[in-house]
Amino acid sequence: MIPVGITFNENHYLHDSFLNGFPSPENPSRIRNILEYLANSDLVTGIHYHIYASEPASVRDILRVHTVKYIKFIKSCVKDPRSSPGKDVYVCPSSYEVLLQAVGCVLNAGILVATGKCKHSFALIRPPGHHAGPDASSGFCLFNNSGILARYLQEVHGFERIAILNIDAHASDGTYAVFETDPSVLCISVHQDQSTLYPYKGFIRDIGARPALGYCINMEMPPESGNPEYGIFYDEVVEKVLTKFDPQIVILECGFDAYYKESLTKLNLTIDGYYRIIFKLASKWNIVTLLEGGYHEDLGLLTSVVLRALTGESNIKDEVDQIDLLASRHAKTRKDFNNSLSLLKMRLEPYWGLWTRT
Ligand SMILES: [Zn+2]
Repeated sequence: MIPVGITFNENHYLHDSFLNGFPSPENPSRIRNILEYLANSDLVTGIHYHIYASEPASVRDILRVHTVKYIKFIKSCVKDPRSSPGKDVYVCPSSYEVLLQAVGCVLNAGILVATGKCKHSFALIRPPGHHAGPDASSGFCLFNNSGILARYLQEVHGFERIAILNIDAHASDGTYAVFETDPSVLCISVHQDQSTLYPYKGFIRDIGARPALGYCINMEMPPESGNPEYGIFYDEVVEKVLTKFDPQIVILECGFDAYYKESLTKLNLTIDGYYRIIFKLASKWNIVTLLEGGYHEDLGLLTSVVLRALTGESNIKDEVDQIDLLASRHAKTRKDFNNSLSLLKMRLEPYWGLWTRT
């Protein structure tokens, strides 16, 4: 079995903010940088990963999450590149074809894992998807990739329990909107404090709606949170809840903007931090990883670190341990984090029964 199957939308460069005069950090250089880095890394095609070609998704696939009206709206926006379908979203004449190809790569990444061809997979696609709701686009996102994949796996492969974990610095508000009343899909989003960052949604109090109360989990990380705080959250919430929920597959919304070099956010994950989370996750569950945000020069490095974690390879040497130490010594950050974690556990305890002292 191939450890990791990689898919990527080869036409992604046709979705380019510069084509409509809207300079954006979400541009073709992101995937170009990743592919160049992987080509020069010591990870070997055929041993660590294999790159698979993918067919575009069909409108039927998109309709499992989005409305007919919304799809028509996106198509109409594409015809007029000056239009913007949502806040901080751009389109170009070829964007609709790029979107279908990206979703096709996401579905293929899911199929590779669901059919046992690969243990894990990574869809290197753009634009990202986790801010897109059933009838709304925002934050560079037009179609909700993880939602469409979850619905596909349910309908076509008969999966009954799917988990979606967002580790992008921004809350996964679009995915929340898709599944907030659906207890068959557990959504966990760990992101920067939503009073300090777009989309200003995904507060700790937001835990889904009947009959899925407790099946949407939003953890707000105080600015400056880093490896220690993420490690504690993973051990005390993510692993415990996932173990109890027992998902047949985990879709990872993998944003690289919680990285300490990201200028748009204020979190301090290092390559060690990403590695540890994903290594732990991949040792227990089959993971379909989807590229979300991340706009700095180390996207290739971080992608290779994720691949190492998925394949069980040791991590490369992290040279920024001081950030780790700094975060753990930052008393206010830790205090705020502990308060947030206690509040989250209190909100979730009636639905999970995991944290009550005996
Ligand atoms: Zn983000």
